[in-house]
Amino acid sequence: MRHILIVEDNADLASGLKRNLEVEGHRATIAGTAREALTAVARQVPDLVVLDLGLPDKDGYHVLEQLREQGVQAPVLILSARGLESDKVKGFRLGADDYVTKPFGVVELMARISAHLRRASQDPGAAAPRSLSDEALQQQYALTERQVEVARLLGRGLSNAEIAESLGLSTFTARNHTEQVLFKLGASTRARVGAILRGEA
Ligand code: CA
Repeated sequence: MRHILIVEDNADLASGLKRNLEVEGHRATIAGTAREALTAVARQVPDLVVLDLGLPDKDGYHVLEQLREQGVQAPVLILSARGLESDKVKGFRLGADDYVTKPFGVVELMARISAHLRRASQDPGAAAPRSLSDEALQQQYALTERQVEVARLLGRGLSNAEIAESLGLSTFTARNHTEQVLFKLGASTRARVGAILRGEA
């Protein structure tokens, strides 16, 4: 499920878009002003932004400029009644990925959004985190083979006693391994181990 931020002050249009995106299986939130949009992004960076240009406080270009300045890489699709070539060029110069003129066809808009999301997810910079292999754990974190086993069990949320039992160790030895693994991985808590193994840390 992807998160799409709809920046649009026309409430009917915004809620219609939100419904369509939800039907496609996405999560959508609505911001009715530039200020709301920037606050929403600060709280959580969306996977894609649908951006109206005519907003009550500042215009959409301002929002776009701010997002790009803050390093937000999410695709931005401008949705505007302004259809002049100069408007579009300005949008693209500021870092928009697409420009759709109102009135628009919902089916085409959904197809464009899907295409941008697909491309963004294939972008190596935005690639999904890769799980670490046993070799990587040994080489990058200097874990022993035994400690790799312990790390895998820790990552699944097992306690020291459960790790001891499943590897046929004493609880004392299992605890020693656990401490070593946490130390070598730089994991502040046991719960962090899973994220590190999944390559998310
Ligand atoms: Ca508007």
